[in-house]
Amino acid sequence: MVKITNFGGYRQYVLESAELRVSVMELGATVTGIDFRGRRVGLGYAEAEDYLTHGAYLGAIVGRFANRIGGAAFTLEGREYRLVPNEGKNQLHGGPEGFHRRLWTPIVKSGTEALFRLTSPDGDMGFPGQLEAEVCYQLEGNALRISYRVSCTEATPVSLTNHSYFNLAGHAAGPVDDHRLMLRADAYTPSDEEMIPTGEIRPAEGTPLDLREPVRLGSLWDLPELARTRGLDHNFVLRGGEGPAAVLTDPEGRLSLEVYTDRPAMQVYTAGFLKEGPGKDGAHYGPHHAVCLETQAFPDAVNRPEFPSCILRPGGTWESETVYRFEGAGIAKGRRAQMIYL
Ligand code: BGC
Repeated sequence: MVKITNFGGYRQYVLESAELRVSVMELGATVTGIDFRGRRVGLGYAEAEDYLTHGAYLGAIVGRFANRIGGAAFTLEGREYRLVPNEGKNQLHGGPEGFHRRLWTPIVKSGTEALFRLTSPDGDMGFPGQLEAEVCYQLEGNALRISYRVSCTEATPVSLTNHSYFNLAGHAAGPVDDHRLMLRADAYTPSDEEMIPTGEIRPAEGTPLDLREPVRLGSLWDLPELARTRGLDHNFVLRGGEGPAAVLTDPEGRLSLEVYTDRPAMQVYTAGFLKEGPGKDGAHYGPHHAVCLETQAFPDAVNRPEFPSCILRPGGTWESETVYRFEGAGIAKGRRAQMIYL
């Protein structure tokens, strides 16, 4: 059965397969640790409280709407809704008390599967209708499958994601300059100074955002086009179909992470604004120490009829899956996770 531990007063569930060990706590249904064959490949804070104070959404489930809604407002079915802003006049990641700060109700299924439920009341952070959300974490050998299921009582924008910070060289290994990233994305959505999409869908070809062939991340930090975002913090339009949406590879080319998803887009954030501070096991984290691969709807889609719709209506179910699969050609098999989770 699943191990249940106490992490700073929150229940934490430790799922284990032969290759992966993933811990998730009830606060924010947050992934607090990911170990692949004994290597900790996801950043995690030492103290549960850090998750409430650092504002980086580390490992958390983000909702109701991942990324930004311009002007923290939208009109839906003839009614205007004003959301609670938390980044200037805009809303980021569901608002100041988004799903990442909620106590989810855990339902343990087995040693490799844990489900978390949340009811978001009508008017939550300004959003219409009551929402019932379920997030299920499942280990399948070398893969972590995250499945979402959401229903609502009124039409509302919905886009849940997981905001894990990956460093395949190990969570304490420092900047990810020598990681390589490939994206099956032919276009991205440019945004203004406040990171709100302009509405354009721009081909990646001929721009620094062409990652269709693997790119060394450190080569991006100093590009003038990416100065404002200190590297990547962009919404990529995924090609869809078979194959991974993204492949991240460690500096030695021995460990890679493939991301599969049914979402139309992915926010790739190379953590240029991650604050200096302590992590688990005495680690020190800082800017560029990780990569977030956040599968999502297009940011501000609720205000952009030209983007794929993000609206869930009563009677419908928003179902989505994202799989993070680790492949470790050169990493010893059978080495179990040795980390201590408390
Ligand atoms: C956003 C960034 C933000 C980060 C952490 C990402 O999804 O796109 O702009 O800084 O999350 O909050």
